[in-house]
Amino acid sequence: MRLPEYSPQSVRPADVARLATELGAIVGARHVRQRKSELLAYESDGLPGYRRRPRLAVFPGTRDELVEIVRTLASGGIPFVPRGAGTGLSGGALADDVVLIGLNRLNRILHIDVDNRHAVVEPGVVNALLTRETTRFGLHYAPDPSSQTACTIGGNVAENAGGPHCLKYGVTLNHVIAATVVLPDGQVATLGSADGEREGYDLLGAFVGSEGCFGIALDVTVRLTPDPEAVRTLLADFTSVHDAAMAVSAIIASGILPAALELMDAPTIRAMESSVYAAGYPTDAAAVLLIEVDGLAAGLDADVGQIVRLSTAAGAREVRVASDAAERARLWQGRKKAFGAMGRLSPHLVVQDAVVPRTRLPEVLARIHEIAEEHDVLVCNVFHAGDGNLHPNIPYDAADPDMTARVEAAMSAIMRVCIEVGGTITGEHGVGLDKLPYMPLLFDEDTLDAMCRLRSVWDPERRSNPGKVVPVRSCREWSGLPGLSEVRKAATVAADGPVGRGGATTAAMEGSAGREAAPPGAARVGDGLAGSGHGGR
Ligand SMILES: Cc1cc2nc3c(=O)[nH]c(=O)nc-3n(C[C@H](O)[C@H](O)[C@H](O)COP(=O)(O)OP(=O)(O)OC[C@H]3O[C@@H](n4cnc5c(N)ncnc54)[C@H](O)[C@@H]3O)c2cc1C
Repeated sequence: MRLPEYSPQSVRPADVARLATELGAIVGARHVRQRKSELLAYESDGLPGYRRRPRLAVFPGTRDELVEIVRTLASGGIPFVPRGAGTGLSGGALADDVVLIGLNRLNRILHIDVDNRHAVVEPGVVNALLTRETTRFGLHYAPDPSSQTACTIGGNVAENAGGPHCLKYGVTLNHVIAATVVLPDGQVATLGSADGEREGYDLLGAFVGSEGCFGIALDVTVRLTPDPEAVRTLLADFTSVHDAAMAVSAIIASGILPAALELMDAPTIRAMESSVYAAGYPTDAAAVLLIEVDGLAAGLDADVGQIVRLSTAAGAREVRVASDAAERARLWQGRKKAFGAMGRLSPHLVVQDAVVPRTRLPEVLARIHEIAEEHDVLVCNVFHAGDGNLHPNIPYDAADPDMTARVEAAMSAIMRVCIEVGGTITGEHGVGLDKLPYMPLLFDEDTLDAMCRLRSVWDPERRSNPGKVVPVRSCREWSGLPGLSEVRKAATVAADGPVGRGGATTAAMEGSAGREAAPPGAARVGDGLAGSGHGGR
């Protein structure tokens, strides 16, 4: 079966004033933005290489306002894009001449049920703030993206976000038990249940990770996890990336399940150590592993001993165990702020996100190194090694066309290697606009077709986050992997710098340039919350 082509319409300039008045009547005129200068702040997400300007932006302050907005847009057949904190790294929250619905004012924690270890939150609640509020009960919200001091629970649900501690605790999907959503036609549906699984299809499972294409989460019920009795954090340093990757496999194969197992290579370590986030990592190391184990105090030191032995056997020069909470927090700060620190290397940064089978890490990292040399680019690796979730990042200057072309070719080659070894194109950042052209490399026509049909069930007119996730033009013409210039075309990137693919301005990664441009109530990376593993932990 083939679906008809559908091109989501944009909002006509002539209709903007009328629409602004209608939406202003719902939320108050000051919560509707239509001036170019005001909309500038919403043109990009964490990858400002992509730029799309919304026709207008509206910021509901209550759930009822949000539902009324969606119903108003539905009655006019108008497309829209939900947006949380805009930290996404796949161009997912961009609105191209359509309405952007900013959710940052919906930032209340509605209920904390300590006995049942649940919390009900509005979608704009910042991830780390939830843990900060539950720490006094000895609980935390386990999924901890490195952007957790800024990103929202709604954005986490839409992207099925991961984070360093998801190796042991599972990703967002494993921690969301119910959600109320407004569907694109304005109906309000309850998905999942806080009282245990109900009969019927797993609609919640389909919604988590749907990248804003199935409607908007109005509230989310999440699981809270008891803080572990004890935690140990280790830093193992290696003179070769290969040895570090071998240590990852050895630790997992031993049966120990670390809470986190992160790898950072030399360029990343040096960038981080020369930044304000310096954490005392050895700058002459080829790679470090940041390893955390947690759980009952009894037996934890035995695990630490075994990890030290395994790491040493794999070639570690030294394995340091953090002596107190302050040292742990410092080590984690280095990891969590690594992207931002890369801002020191160049004005732009391509951030990549792929997954490979863990046992293939050594060879894939070697191939990435070769590709970097072939294309004369610097690749900085910082990633969730325990999950095989790679983040090869390339700093570059978008004003240099030759360098830009080399970066594009290198990124494309890296993605192909990851797919060749049985990996996939995104571990946690989603498809958004950025990964669209890779979808046909992974999925056959019938599978892509099934995705289109699933989307049509939730949103027959494809008005909710149009043009994202499944190749956009139609279900008949899957685009191939055309290289990044073609990616720009496929994604209809307009008014862009030379690289339209994942090019993050370093200021955005630092979370500084966007500060004054932040939407109402939005927190930004580095806004003073602890950047340690579990936020408040
Ligand atoms: C420095 C840095 C580090 C990062 N580290 C990680 C990491 O470790 N792990 C990880 O997984 N990601 C990471 N990210 C990526 C990003 O933070 C996550 O994808 C996060 O989940 C996005 O949340 P947000 O609120 O910023 O969403 P946005 O970027 O605003 O939106 C992301 C998507 O969610 C949709 N959306 C937003 N709110 C809703 C809602 N209420 N209902 C339906 N759809 C909605 C949007 O339409 C869009 O498609 C990192 C980003 C940065 C900049």
